[in-house]
Amino acid sequence: MRKLGLDFDNTLINYDLIFYETAREFKLIPKDIKKSKNAVRNYLINKNEEKKFTELQGEVYGSKIINAEQSPGMFEALKFIQDKGYELAIVSHKTKNPIIGPKYNLHKSALSWLEKNKFFDKEGLFMNKNNVFFEPTKEEKVKRIEYIGCTHFIDDLPSILNLIKKDIVKIHYNPGKENLSDNYLKFSKWGKLKYKEIF
Ligand SMILES: [Mg+2]
Repeated sequence: MRKLGLDFDNTLINYDLIFYETAREFKLIPKDIKKSKNAVRNYLINKNEEKKFTELQGEVYGSKIINAEQSPGMFEALKFIQDKGYELAIVSHKTKNPIIGPKYNLHKSALSWLEKNKFFDKEGLFMNKNNVFFEPTKEEKVKRIEYIGCTHFIDDLPSILNLIKKDIVKIHYNPGKENLSDNYLKFSKWGKLKYKEIF
């Protein structure tokens, strides 16, 4: 069976607005910066407050995630691919708790988001929860991708794709970036993923 493996953070889910709003709530950023995760990170790093960004990440992934948006067009694309006969699996590099700050269970938080967004519903993607994996390190993530027999894998990080063995079709999701490297199949918007050709 053909199996499409999916990264979770920043691939299925779009954190931009939540990062901006949470950073505003904690009074870490001025109002007029761009509403994106990268803009928030760059702002804090430029102020030498990387630790604050790490803490903010814990809040976003732990307690605010439930209100995060889907990557636009993602759900429809996955439905299409599934209808082509692919099994879907999610393989995420995610520690159980944030590195600093409150001890949120990040795995539970991510599962709640998937539930809310109908990944397990009969009327949704009807995925089996046993096909969702959270791995504590990049290396274990890559091992899992290979062990469960993914034939294709989509990730926003080339550093992960670089580690996956050659016979898995690697697809790079790089939201909003039109100039993409040529190393992998790639797309900048789920609506633009040439899934009709790839799958
Ligand atoms: Mg990711």
